[in-house]
Amino acid sequence: MQAPLLTIVIPCYNEEEILPETISALSALLEDMIGRHQVDQGSRLLFVDDGSKDHTWKIIYKEIIKGGFVKGLKLARNAGHQNALLAGISAAKEASDCMVTIDADLQDDIHVIPSFIERFKEGCEIVYGVRAKRKTDSFFKRTTAESFYKLMGRMGVDLVYNHADFRLMGRRAVEELEKFGESNMFLRGIVPLIGFKTAEVYYDRKERLAGETKYPLKKMLAFAFDGITSFSITPIRMVLLVGVLSFLGSLGFGGYFLLLKFFGETETGWTSLITSIWLIGGLQLMGLGLVGEYIGKIYKETKRRPKYIVDMDLFNFPLPRHLLNGERTDEYYSMDAGQLPETN
Ligand code: UDP
Ligand code: MG
Repeated sequence: MQAPLLTIVIPCYNEEEILPETISALSALLEDMIGRHQVDQGSRLLFVDDGSKDHTWKIIYKEIIKGGFVKGLKLARNAGHQNALLAGISAAKEASDCMVTIDADLQDDIHVIPSFIERFKEGCEIVYGVRAKRKTDSFFKRTTAESFYKLMGRMGVDLVYNHADFRLMGRRAVEELEKFGESNMFLRGIVPLIGFKTAEVYYDRKERLAGETKYPLKKMLAFAFDGITSFSITPIRMVLLVGVLSFLGSLGFGGYFLLLKFFGETETGWTSLITSIWLIGGLQLMGLGLVGEYIGKIYKETKRRPKYIVDMDLFNFPLPRHLLNGERTDEYYSMDAGQLPETN
């Protein structure tokens, strides 16, 4: 097989601290892979700026002007990690044979990307990067993440264990992925539904090199809850089950209370009454909330809002030549990222 045209897609949200390092590490890797004729020399890095509020886009833009491997896609506002990934691979797919997605913080080992390409050449449309160990993650992150995968498995969602969004997808797989019309794209759940020949490549996950996680506990819980309710109706079934059980239970209790009345022992009972009011009330509210969550999902899906909005696509529509190599001087390159002129 001819060397495939690879695009590495990197979603970035407020990553100015780590971006320069990420750019140089990935550029070096790509140069090496091109040198060894593993990938086509037209291969690129596509940084997706997910509506960052810091200098992320300036850094990417400055890099694009230099004319190296770096290309950029700027989203009009923060669309979230999953949508930023989707925006990147959708923009890249026409001009790529395969796409690798990786987080900007380099926690995933970029040196297994060549193995991804080998698997792709063997005919795999999807290659999953799987974390072999999590010893560098904090105890908290590790246990919450692992229980998330376990819980999802119990709920019947087919996830690749310990795989996040570090994966390779061929153009065909991306085209099929785009046919999934839902606006809530939980990629880890959807990608395994595509099929084709797949493979897993193992690596050790490292610590974040700089900056802080963009997934604090609140976002992490929302992500897990979203993942579950987008893919599984088990929670709603559980509510039904609890409802049925408490109905049966109340029948039993009803009989028991009748017996008590029959034997004239009905004076007591305030405690059991008040407890059951609270219990049933709580259960009802919980059930209602859960059903509401699913209705909310339907509501969101029916609106068919765009998942993300592209502000600037400097992957498919490169800057005009005069902006690329024209009158740019050393002085220009040494400018602070904040001083660079805006483009449109
Ligand atoms: N990210 C993004 N949009 C967001 C949040 C995060 O594009 O709204 C990016 C972020 O820049 C990073 C990746 O998604 O490249 C994963 O985020 P992070 O490393 O903070 O997550 P963690 O590894 O802690 O789960
Ligand atoms: Mg990370």
